[in-house]
Amino acid sequence: MQITILGNSGPYPRAGGACSGYLLEDERFKILLDCGNGVLSRLLGKIKSLNDLDAIILSHLHFDHISDIMVMKYAIGINQEKGMTNKSIPLYAPNDPQDIYDMLQFKNAFKLNELNSKSILTFGDMKISFELMSHPITTYAVIVEKKGKKFVYTSDTKYCDVLIEMSKEAELLLCECNLLEKDKTEDAYHLSAREVGEVAALADVNKLLLTHIWPEYDLNEVLNEVKIMFSGDVEIATELETFEI
Ligand SMILES: [Zn+2]
Ligand SMILES: [Zn+2]
Repeated sequence: MQITILGNSGPYPRAGGACSGYLLEDERFKILLDCGNGVLSRLLGKIKSLNDLDAIILSHLHFDHISDIMVMKYAIGINQEKGMTNKSIPLYAPNDPQDIYDMLQFKNAFKLNELNSKSILTFGDMKISFELMSHPITTYAVIVEKKGKKFVYTSDTKYCDVLIEMSKEAELLLCECNLLEKDKTEDAYHLSAREVGEVAALADVNKLLLTHIWPEYDLNEVLNEVKIMFSGDVEIATELETFEI
C-alpha cells in the first residue's frame, strides 16, 4: 500500500496548502480518505480521472475534511450529463449532521453509504474498519489492514484510550497533531503534539506521520514536542509526498 498526502493543515490551510486529504492506493485500488479544501486539484494531478477512484471515505463532516466534495460532485454530475461518464463513485460517510450529509449528493455523482463503527469495507485483500473518535460530531478513525500490515488514520480527535488500542504496532500511524501543549485548553477537541508522541510510543508504531497541523505553527516546534515522548521514526506528512506502507 501507499499513501499520498494531498493536504496536511487544519482547520484552514497554509498559503498554497490544503486541508485533509489522502490518497490510499494498492496495486488494484485507489481510495480517497477525506476531501478538504484544496484537495481536488491536487488529486487530479495524481490520477488520470475521477473515474479511477474506487471509493471515497469521509471520516467526518467538518468542512476542512469535506469542502472539495461540494465541487467534486459538480465534476462528476455534469460529466455524467454530458455522457462522459456513467460511473457513480461509492462514498462512505457518517450521517451526522444529517443536513450536511444530505448536501453531499448532486445528480448521481456518488453512491452514498452511511458509515457506522461496525462498518467493514473490503477492496481485494485490503480490509478497512472504523473506530469512533472523541470529537464534537460523529468522527471515525480509519484502520486499513493488508497482508499483516496496518495503516491507521486518526482523523480528528481529542485524547481517548481507543487511540492506543487501534494503533497498536501499526506500520504507519497518520495522526492529527493540531495543537502544541501550551495552546491546549480544557475543551480542545484535538491532540497536542505531546499527546501524539505518547500515543505513538504506547502503541509502539513503526512510523508516525503528523498531519492536521495548525497553519500558524512552526513545523519544527511541532516535531520537537512529539519527540519528547516518542523516540521512533516520525516526520511531518509533507504535502504531495508518498509514503510506502
Ligand atoms: Zn479537521
Ligand atoms: Zn473535525
